[in-house]
Amino acid sequence: MKISVIGAGYVGLVTGVCLSELAHDVTVIDIDSIKIEQLQKGISPIYEPGLEELIQHNIQQSLSFTTSIQEGIADASVIFIAVGTPSNLDGSADLSYIEAASKSIGESITKSDVVIVTKSTVPVGTNQKIKGWLQESSRPNVSFHVASNPEFLREGSAIKDTFETDRIVIGVESVLAESILREVYERIDAPLVVTSIESAEMIKYASNAFLATKISFVNEIANLCEKLGGNIEEVANGMGLDKRIGHQFLRAGIGYGGSCFPKDTKALVQMAGGAEHHFELLESVIRVNNDQQYKLIEKSKARFTSLKGKKVAMLGLAFKPNTDDIREAASIPMLHSLLEEGTDITVYDPVATKGIQEIFGDKLHYATNVIEAIEHKDITFIVTEWEQIISTPLSIFASYMNEPVIFDGRNCYKLEDASKHGVEYYSIGRGQVGDRSLYSLTLRQS
Ligand code: NAD
Repeated sequence: MKISVIGAGYVGLVTGVCLSELAHDVTVIDIDSIKIEQLQKGISPIYEPGLEELIQHNIQQSLSFTTSIQEGIADASVIFIAVGTPSNLDGSADLSYIEAASKSIGESITKSDVVIVTKSTVPVGTNQKIKGWLQESSRPNVSFHVASNPEFLREGSAIKDTFETDRIVIGVESVLAESILREVYERIDAPLVVTSIESAEMIKYASNAFLATKISFVNEIANLCEKLGGNIEEVANGMGLDKRIGHQFLRAGIGYGGSCFPKDTKALVQMAGGAEHHFELLESVIRVNNDQQYKLIEKSKARFTSLKGKKVAMLGLAFKPNTDDIREAASIPMLHSLLEEGTDITVYDPVATKGIQEIFGDKLHYATNVIEAIEHKDITFIVTEWEQIISTPLSIFASYMNEPVIFDGRNCYKLEDASKHGVEYYSIGRGQVGDRSLYSLTLRQS
């Protein structure tokens, strides 16, 4: 089938590349000419494991890239819209990229019965707006079908998630759209959930909001464990064995980030508000997460009283491992706080340094490996659980740091190991290891 994908970001590029691997004839279109030039040479503009190999495997045959919408959609039976839907200042979804993409499809489309499918995460009712934008901009004799096909892939495992997805949701209002989308996905072995367009739009927000709720819930239990006693890992394990709860998304830490959960939870609160519904539960989830991002800073300030002049290492900058995406990463508010506190910061991330460098420039030092980052430092903050970081034995921290004091936001190490290596170690919801008299005293006073 001839498929076009508008937007060569994390979702559009992965979708296009995976569909070409499934023997569809795919053209990916983006307005960013630098991205398209790189892609035409077989270079992936984003870091996503396995993606570049798949691009190179398909580029001479079933996969092409262009900046021209006319050329890119000329023979397509299906057009996926996968442009960004970032947050407006009030938290609602900014639909300007969707509107622009829809209008440019409308202006360029020449044949009837093309199915225009929204993969971007959009508020309930947006596909009806898309229909309006298409109608406004297209020739009067051209008819089309709209459909919603929300995306559930996770950065870092996006290709596996696409081929081995738990479900494919399609929201349709015509038999033709359903049958075309069934054909698009016929080679993927996953339950196909067919719904109304509005339900499909809501499934995406409800799923992300639920997962975010699970994360904030376990983080609140972790915070309680720190005050009342108990180890969050034991607690989460005991909870997760209950099949109704499950182990996934029950890992305590310094909160969720990335391009989806923060933006989609805020957008759902706004959507609810627009319908005069106060989504109190989700507002709390967001508040808990915002506070959680500062937990390590709070702990370090309690431990040292003042951080001024401390030499600090931050390990991990991306919002999670295996991606270069730093959107809403906990590293960013933490770095701002640490700079305000007057610390001298060296950061390390295997692939996400570039984005951080664009924000912070020469206010930070940039290391190319863990040892370079932690050598002669007073404090290490672990922010992202990259393999390169968690595989570093604690003995290395003990050998290279001035005094091995670690604040770990992802619970990467066992408490026994920290104790064995003489490392002063603070994590989330598990109590601390090492000399903590001053820390406990300050906490009691606060
Ligand atoms: P992104 O910012 O990485 O990519 C968007 C791309 O669209 C950019 O390359 C941009 O240049 C391009 N673009 C914008 N306007 C265009 C236009 N008119 N014509 C052609 N190209 C245009 O975004 P993303 O992370 O891929 O997210 C896309 C959508 O998918 C969002 O709605 C997001 O919420 C949703 N989503 C993202 C993920 C994820 O993990 N990133 C997962 C599921 C759903």
